[in-house]
Amino acid sequence: MAVISGVGVSPGRAVGPVVRMPEPVGEPAPDARLSDGADVAAEGARIADAAEQVRADLERRAATAHGEGSAVLEATALMAADPTLVTAAQRKLDDGIAPARAVWEAAAEVAAMLESLGGYMAERARDVGDVRDRIVAVLDGRPAPGVPERAEPFVLTARDLAPADTATLDPSTCLALVTAEGGPTSHTAILARALGLPAVVAAPGISDVAESTVVLVDGSGGTVETDPSPGDIDAVRAAAARERHFDGTGRTADGTRVQLLANVGDPKGAAAAVGIGAEGVGLFRTEFCFLDRAEEPSVDEQAEQYLAVLEPFKGRKVVVRTLDAGADKPLPFLTDADEANPALGVRGFRTAARHPDVLDHQLEAIARAAERSGAEVWVMAPMISTASEAASFVARAEAHGLSSAGVMVEVPAAALTADAVMEHVAFASIGTNDLTQYTMAADRLLSGVAELNDPWQPAALRLVRLTAQAGARQDRPVGVCGEAAADPALAVVLAGLGVTSLSMTPRAIPDVAEVLLSVSIDECARLAQLAVDAPDARAAREAVRAQLPTP
Ligand code: PEP
Ligand code: MG
Repeated sequence: MAVISGVGVSPGRAVGPVVRMPEPVGEPAPDARLSDGADVAAEGARIADAAEQVRADLERRAATAHGEGSAVLEATALMAADPTLVTAAQRKLDDGIAPARAVWEAAAEVAAMLESLGGYMAERARDVGDVRDRIVAVLDGRPAPGVPERAEPFVLTARDLAPADTATLDPSTCLALVTAEGGPTSHTAILARALGLPAVVAAPGISDVAESTVVLVDGSGGTVETDPSPGDIDAVRAAAARERHFDGTGRTADGTRVQLLANVGDPKGAAAAVGIGAEGVGLFRTEFCFLDRAEEPSVDEQAEQYLAVLEPFKGRKVVVRTLDAGADKPLPFLTDADEANPALGVRGFRTAARHPDVLDHQLEAIARAAERSGAEVWVMAPMISTASEAASFVARAEAHGLSSAGVMVEVPAAALTADAVMEHVAFASIGTNDLTQYTMAADRLLSGVAELNDPWQPAALRLVRLTAQAGARQDRPVGVCGEAAADPALAVVLAGLGVTSLSMTPRAIPDVAEVLLSVSIDECARLAQLAVDAPDARAAREAVRAQLPTP
């Protein structure tokens, strides 16, 4: 048995054999030529056979995949069946170009042609790239790119995962994700949390673990154990088989209320939140509705989009966050692409100085959607740094009739001046993802600093406590809506620091609810003190987890 350390980014434990994600197909050398005396006709037939193999494989997979994954595969299979790419590649063989290179170059021409047609055809250009990679893999005798198919459940390991890699990931066979690279807010992390899969990132040691080795992944502790004991395997499997339910009222063992809310970005997320019984929404990331937009969406369109998320929560609380554009979430109509340090640049509420109209339009749209939905709508601004900014946002929200206006505390300055900030707002919500990044001066997307960028860092927890204490003094609710809230052990600590609500990916709610119910609020406070006094994040996590039941 050996233990590989990384950063746990999606809680839970799973055990299964390793299946490795194939390395991406690289561009064949530009000067790759057919060997002297090669049979051009036979090589041309090889390209056609490879394309046919790819088409058949994709169609077979489409037939067994579900929903969106099946549609993606079908669209790609159609592209593989289209003779344009094969014919163009075969023509290049006449110039002596090697088959894989010929397919690569032909694909670039076909993609450019589709892009020039615009609209639906332009969107298909991406499928050409996928088909190209698959044909090249067949020609080179390598495994097909993308998530491998297996009949038995497995733990997927990879260098890193791109969103396209994971479009067809099936959570009924993939038990957990482990990547050598990636940071806590990388695509792997976000996807894993959305699917409820335990995940560990920034674990370079995973690259040395052979295919089929049985591993135990602990997504809370950030470890991967190879060849675990039969006892540990049984314990993990028994826990996974146990159904967890949330009864709709988050509380500790002594009945202290800790509201359990959901983070959502679209109507699908809202439906998942309702399905799991979330008490409401603690963070609606509105920028997720418009990430692909070059122009500001109209007030009418915004109101429609917001309404679709609010409607299922009639009579319940939904905290709508105004656009958090910038850094890892650029919106071309709001942000400047040329900043040297976008995480420290004009993002979140800061964009309102240059584009006050965009904020006003959004507040108008939120107010309209709120009225029509019957949900209890609160609004908050991201990236607030001073009490003056907080006051300014609240005044703008109130001008649109939005009376429950608050701010996100995710810049250390806001936490350090929480008493002054809190005087102006109805509530605060702590964004631990950014609060940790800015407290530790560690880029949240960079695997090299993932250990620093850990919400268990005692320095970040101290800022959470300062904020919660300021809220208590002024009788204002203070929630946490960063990913930290989804880690059951950390949720206990946050409650112990005085946080009154926790908002997380919907799937995490039952686990967090169960662990909270197992401890009194005094016990939460004692464990919180242990974490705050620890020398670093790892020690804090270990000290607290050792005293809690494993979820
Ligand atoms: C956060 O920073 O913790 C947060 C919830 O906001 P986002 O992850 O969208 O920046
Ligand atoms: Mg943030």
